[in-house]
Amino acid sequence: MEFLQPTSWTDALAAKAASPEAVPICGGTDLMVELNFDARRPAALLDLTKVADLAQWDIDDGSVRLGAGVSYARIITELSARLPGLAMAARTVGSPQIRNRGTVGGNLGTASPAGDAHPPLLAAAATVEAASVRGTRLIGIDEFFTGVKRNALAADELIAAVRIPLPVGPEQFSKIGTRNAMVIAVAAFAVALQPARKLVRTGIGSAAPTPRRAPAAEQFLAGALAEHDLWESRAELPGPLLDRFGDLVTAAAAPIDDVRGTAAYRLHALGVMARRTLAWAWRQYQSASPEGS
Ligand SMILES: Cc1cc2nc3c(=O)[nH]c(=O)nc-3n(C[C@H](O)[C@H](O)[C@H](O)COP(=O)(O)OP(=O)(O)OC[C@H]3O[C@@H](n4cnc5c(N)ncnc54)[C@H](O)[C@@H]3O)c2cc1C
Repeated sequence: MEFLQPTSWTDALAAKAASPEAVPICGGTDLMVELNFDARRPAALLDLTKVADLAQWDIDDGSVRLGAGVSYARIITELSARLPGLAMAARTVGSPQIRNRGTVGGNLGTASPAGDAHPPLLAAAATVEAASVRGTRLIGIDEFFTGVKRNALAADELIAAVRIPLPVGPEQFSKIGTRNAMVIAVAAFAVALQPARKLVRTGIGSAAPTPRRAPAAEQFLAGALAEHDLWESRAELPGPLLDRFGDLVTAAAAPIDDVRGTAAYRLHALGVMARRTLAWAWRQYQSASPEGS
């Protein structure tokens, strides 16, 4: 197996253009499992860990530009205040060792329906920065996941970064697994409220062939909050509203039975998580000062 180890982004893109079959490796926490089990035997690996640019994050035009090689551990320690939804999800990933190595770029590269970064990225309206020697293109997160473990990257493209708008309201995330740590999600859900724009966004994980939003639930909730002046009054959310939101999130999912859980359990769990995360987010909104939200 050939091992390519560029030390600059330009060289990494040139290597990928010259050898599109070369498989990128960053933290290796997905890829090495496949290699160890002999599930995959690529002709070449393209190690991205020596490309310093990939491990940087900065703030640009109201968004965090998160380099594809920033680890979950750093998201938790450096970005919890700026990206609370993603940081909540990052805290649930694997173990400390996995969080030290694993990256959001790798999560997007694998594009598993169960990837924990995906629901908060969907709820936050993130954009994936895909690059090649041909240039850079921005892929909206809604268009990024194209099938089970498939994404919109071309053969010569690498993920440079993901751009995540700074939150303009509460964000929440919830994940259900068979235990609290070292667990792939049986189902996961993220919600983001945008009071100034009177908008709601969601992200569903592990309950459909791809991570996906629940557009009908978003529209229903945004409409109901506006109709009853709840954005302004910050009054308690009526029970039926929470229930309807949960039902519409459930209706957006298309889960399967597998070793981690049944479709029926996933649907039930999603409804519970949707109601629960919305209640948490609303409580946050109620306790924030009107100027600060
Ligand atoms: C014990 C264990 C527990 C885990 N627990 C969780 C969990 O709780 N939640 C969860 O979501 N995941 C979990 N995972 C999976 C894994 O840790 C995550 O998916 C992680 O985000 C992968 O990141 P990485 O940098 O290690 O990716 P890698 O393994 O290096 O790469 C993963 C894929 O992405 C591609 N890739 C990597 N970087 C790029 C790039 N810049 N551009 C294009 N393609 C790229 C690779 O070619 C590969 O196909 C776990 C894994 C293990 C082994």
